[in-house]
Amino acid sequence: MQIHFFGAAGEVTGSNSMVETGDKKIIVDCGMFQGSDFNEGKNHDPLPYMAEGVSAVLVTHAHLDHVGRLPILAKNGFTGSFYANPATIELAELVMRDALTVMRHDNTKFGMPVLYEEQDVEQVMQQFKPVEYHEWVDLFGDKKVMVYFRDAGHIFGSAFIELVAEGKHVVFSGDIGNVNVPILRPTESLPPGIDLLVCESTYGDRLHESDQERREIIENEVVEAVGRGGVMMIPSFSLERTQELLYEFNDLIDRTHRIKRVPIFLDSPLAIKATHVYRKYVKYYNLEALSLLKGGDDMFNFAGLEETLTVEDSKRINETHNPKIIIAGAGMMNGGRILHHAMRYLSDPKSTLLIIGYQAHGSLGRQILEGHSPVQVMRERVEVKCKVKAVGAFSAHGDQYKMLSWIGSSDIPPKSIYLNHGEPEAVRVFAEKIKQNFNIDAKPAERNLTIEI
Ligand SMILES: [Zn+2]
Repeated sequence: MQIHFFGAAGEVTGSNSMVETGDKKIIVDCGMFQGSDFNEGKNHDPLPYMAEGVSAVLVTHAHLDHVGRLPILAKNGFTGSFYANPATIELAELVMRDALTVMRHDNTKFGMPVLYEEQDVEQVMQQFKPVEYHEWVDLFGDKKVMVYFRDAGHIFGSAFIELVAEGKHVVFSGDIGNVNVPILRPTESLPPGIDLLVCESTYGDRLHESDQERREIIENEVVEAVGRGGVMMIPSFSLERTQELLYEFNDLIDRTHRIKRVPIFLDSPLAIKATHVYRKYVKYYNLEALSLLKGGDDMFNFAGLEETLTVEDSKRINETHNPKIIIAGAGMMNGGRILHHAMRYLSDPKSTLLIIGYQAHGSLGRQILEGHSPVQVMRERVEVKCKVKAVGAFSAHGDQYKMLSWIGSSDIPPKSIYLNHGEPEAVRVFAEKIKQNFNIDAKPAERNLTIEI
C-alpha cells in the first residue's frame, strides 16, 4: 500500500492525501490552500492525479481547507462517492457555496479566477454518501478496503478515519479537537497497534490556556472593550468557533449575568446557516449541551444577539452606536465581511480585535497578530491602532498536550507516524515530543512524498 501526501504538507491548509492499494486510489480530503488570499494560486494548479482515476473520496470534516477543492474533483470527472458524516455533508455544502460566493465577489472586484461553479457543488452533493460514526464501510463491496469513522471532537461531524487494506491499519487524524469544548463530544481514543498514523500538528509546538481561562479572557476583554466604548471585532471561523462563542456568550449574558447586555452582531451568513445544522443534529451533542437543551435553554441565542443575514442588514451595523461586538468571517481575515469592519475600526484605539483561531502564514490576521501596521485591507492601507488580543484556548485544534495524550490514548501506540497539517517548526517540535514520549520517529509528511507501508 502506498500513501501520497499532496497538501497540508509543511503547512496548515490544502489537506489532500491519497491511499493507493491494488488498482484503487482513495483520496482523503481535498481542501483549499489559504494564505494571503482567500483563493490563492496553488488552488489553481492541476490536481497531481487524474480525477477520473480516483476510486473513492473520504472527507474528515467540513472546514474549507479540507473540502474546498472537492468540486474540482467532480468537475474533472470523478464519478465515485464522497464519504462523510451526515452533519459534515450539510456543513460542507454551506462551506463550498460560501466559498463560491467569496470567489465570485473577488472575481468581479479584482479579476481573480473562480475555481468552480454552482453545478460542480451540486455534483458533489449528489455523490456524497453519509457515514455514521462506528460503522464499518466496505468501500468497493469486496471487503478489500474497509473504513471506520470515529468522533475527532474538532467541529460538528468531524471524524478521524481508520482505513484497513492489505492487512494494514492506517488512521488519518483529519483535525483533532481541543479539550472540554462546548457542545462537542470528546475526541475518541485511537485504535490500538495501527501501522501508520497520519497526524495533524497545527499546535504541535504550543499549549493553550485552559477552558476556564478562556471564559475569563472573553469576559475581561468584553468588559474592557465595552468600558472603553469601542467595537470588539471577533473574526471567527463559521463552523464551531462561532457556535462556541455563542454558547459562551449565552452563558456569560443570559445564565450567569457576568456580562451586561450589549449589541452583538453575528455578521456571517455561513455561520448563521451552520448554526441551523448544529440545532438539527442533537445526537452529536455532549452531555452538558444535551442537559441545557432538556432544560429549555437555547444555547445559541441570548439577549442582544442580532443575526445579520443580508448585506443590507450587515451595513446597518454601522448605524448602531458603540459599544458593540461583531462576530464575522473569515476567521483568518483573508476575505468576508470582517474586512469591512476591519477597514472601519482597526485604526480606532478604543476598539479591540479579538483573535480566537489559527492564523495561517500570510493572512491578514497573522500580519496583525505579528504587529504589522499599516496593513492592506481590501487593497487599502489601514493603520492598526486598536487593541489586538489572541486567545489560543478557543482553537478548534488540540494543543501539544492534547495531541500527545491522543496519540497515547490506545494501549498499543502506532507503529509509525507522519505529521501533516502543521508549519515546519510545529512539526519539528512535535516530532521531538513524540520521540520523548513514545520513542517513535515521527516524520514530516512532505509535499509529494510517497511512502510504502
Ligand atoms: Zn479543521
